[in-house]
Amino acid sequence: MTLSSKIDLEETLGTLDLEGRLRLIAETGRPAVFTTSLGIEDQVLTAAIALASLPIQIVTLDTGRLFDETLQLIENTESRFGLTIERFVPRQDAVDAYVAEHGRNGFYESVEARHACCHVRKLEPLAEALKGASYWITGLRRGQSGNRATTPYSEEDKARHLTKINPLADWSIEDIRAFAEEHDVPLNPLHDRGYPSIGCAPCTRAIRPGEPERAGRWWWENDAKRECGLHVAGEAR
Ligand code: SF4
Repeated sequence: MTLSSKIDLEETLGTLDLEGRLRLIAETGRPAVFTTSLGIEDQVLTAAIALASLPIQIVTLDTGRLFDETLQLIENTESRFGLTIERFVPRQDAVDAYVAEHGRNGFYESVEARHACCHVRKLEPLAEALKGASYWITGLRRGQSGNRATTPYSEEDKARHLTKINPLADWSIEDIRAFAEEHDVPLNPLHDRGYPSIGCAPCTRAIRPGEPERAGRWWWENDAKRECGLHVAGEAR
């Protein structure tokens, strides 16, 4: 299918089901990369890509600070679906420089130090993972946080020179859970222990009843819009 404009892409994606959305991108023939953090949304996307045998590269950012449960889930997911999730890791010299300047857990000390850690452990490996990609597929959902409430199906990432595709933008958490159950998708056991959103171990806590889904991420920071910089257009924070 030829997409003659960005408006076509957004409108067309809105009319399709999940497999259709992913297939539309895969069949453009241009390189598409899906970055998974192994959360439930990303597990649904991995399953959908695998079940339809779509030529979409699946990668993860192994920051070196992930939960053991997440590392185990990478292997379980590869076995369940017979695929490879490519790991991108930070440069050791950059990690060493960060630790020398801030300390290994220096991210608790200031927002700047936290952004610097995310830059080394996430943003630089992400840039490597997306090198040459035309499409970047993500598991962003409007219901995840107020900050994500207007997530479109597609958006230009001018800083990275690619189009970001959010095939689950309009899915509810109930839709996600139902798909996972129907397709026997392996999930992170931390979800059942109060972690709806899972990132690096030292920067994620369980949430309390009634808290927003992402309240457990960088909980010590006082900024309702906190993100790691992966999904902040044009910024590397
Ligand atoms: S989430 Fe925490 S540990 Fe992970 S890269 Fe960011 S600051 Fe570092």
